[in-house]
Amino acid sequence: TQTICDLLKNAATRSPDSRAIEDTNGPKWTYADFSKAVESAKAVLDTHGVAAGDRVLIITENCAAAVAFVFACSQQGAWAVPVNARQTSHEIDRVLNHATPRLVVCASLTSPETQAHAQRLGATPVDGAFGQVSVATPCPSSPAVEDGVAVLLYTTGTTGQPKGVMLTHDNLIFAGQASAHIRQIAPSDIVYGALPMTHVFGLASMIMASVTATATIRLEARFSAQKLFDALRTGVTVLPAVPQMHALLMQYTRENGHEHLKDSALRYVSSGAAPLDPVWKRKAEDFYGIALQNGYGMTESTAGIASTSNTIGDPDISVGHPLAGVEVSIDQTVPGGGDGIGEVLTRGPHVMRGYYLNPDETTKTLDTDGWLHTGDLGRIDDSGCLHILGRSKELIIHGGFNVYPPEVEAALNDHPNVVQSAVIGRPTSSNDEEILAFVQEDNSGDLTVDDLRDFIRPRLTGYKLPARIILTKALPAAPTGKILKHKLLDTFTAELG
Ligand code: ATP
Ligand code: MG
Repeated sequence: TQTICDLLKNAATRSPDSRAIEDTNGPKWTYADFSKAVESAKAVLDTHGVAAGDRVLIITENCAAAVAFVFACSQQGAWAVPVNARQTSHEIDRVLNHATPRLVVCASLTSPETQAHAQRLGATPVDGAFGQVSVATPCPSSPAVEDGVAVLLYTTGTTGQPKGVMLTHDNLIFAGQASAHIRQIAPSDIVYGALPMTHVFGLASMIMASVTATATIRLEARFSAQKLFDALRTGVTVLPAVPQMHALLMQYTRENGHEHLKDSALRYVSSGAAPLDPVWKRKAEDFYGIALQNGYGMTESTAGIASTSNTIGDPDISVGHPLAGVEVSIDQTVPGGGDGIGEVLTRGPHVMRGYYLNPDETTKTLDTDGWLHTGDLGRIDDSGCLHILGRSKELIIHGGFNVYPPEVEAALNDHPNVVQSAVIGRPTSSNDEEILAFVQEDNSGDLTVDDLRDFIRPRLTGYKLPARIILTKALPAAPTGKILKHKLLDTFTAELG
């Protein structure tokens, strides 16, 4: 079967001179250069005795060298384990102890965070056609347990500890094709690359999709609203993003005296990895001047499960139809299910091999018929489009009513001085759950909790109104920008009193 490295070699054979990677902090590679960089990275793996089934930890922010090492691992039959350098030492050590890699590669050496990890792990510099990286040999790998695995990718950790997801070559090749297809990516496209490549959405929608279509990836080490603002004025045509990125870009643009970015080359803009707010969708479409496409997926499904193909101004905020070749069904027997609503199950070539060294969790998530239990509640409408209501774990049952956090968040986000928000339930002594809202305000200093209460009251039924609203300038977030909800209570203990 084909490996992701074969996919790249094909791209390099077909279009050797097409621009593959523009690393805004590093090299610009054609597909031929990219292929050479991978050969050179493979030589480093050889030197360190990396063999089939070994794990290679790649600590990095987005950079060309890290991409080369991901593909080089595949040529070796080794598993690439990309982790974000912005994670703490504690978080990285957890992955290190779980994945027991043969080799650690610290790739984005322009990042102070990567440098710090490299130093801590005693890594030494290595040069090659990929540029410069630092490598360390922390502890030898234990034997391989599966074959066909290309990447071990940890989940965001929104609901608890990140889980290590085994994604196969087939998974990634399918995800690349699906992503390139729904976005109609052509060799002339410049795909913006600020989603972390250490997260499934970035890996699939920036890297796998671009290599499949021999398009250009404009790699940005990490997201910054200012850099995105500039990029959109210099030729980027495809923008995959998480909803928070759109919100931050719009805030930045406004604070810098511009209303919109309608005069860019942008032709496809998407939102994924977290619930899309209907208000943001409308605002973003006014802002970009094109339709905002919503895509739904998870690490365990190699990103894509479903995606929209709507036109501008469409008020529908479904996540669209299942991708070609992907099955979706709704299990109404779960808690919170009924009336067409239930847990979203999915089956097909996008479903992971399993969680690494975690058979219990794997059995709970992947049933014997091959269905992946997503943990998300959803429904399918008459036109066959999927709607995600929220995670079953985050469903709040207040006064006997089901409250879906994304709906409350959407009402809060509608306020002009709100940047983003996160809503969770907290058990009360009377066996109920109270609704807590954490709201990131803009820098105007104009917002008060009372204003916000007045604002949402006409928008939400009484039982959906938060008991507490905490205003803040920052919410705990993953490197993607996704809000880490399980950290909210600890982060705001003082404010909650
Ligand atoms: P963890 O599994 O570690 O708690 P996580 O589920 O946030 O973290 P990811 O795999 O990054 O890790 O995210 C997948 C989840 O994100 C989905 O299960 C779903 O809850 C949410 N999600 C993704 N896309 C969308 C979307 N378009 N609309 C609503 N929710 C989405
Ligand atoms: Mg999850």
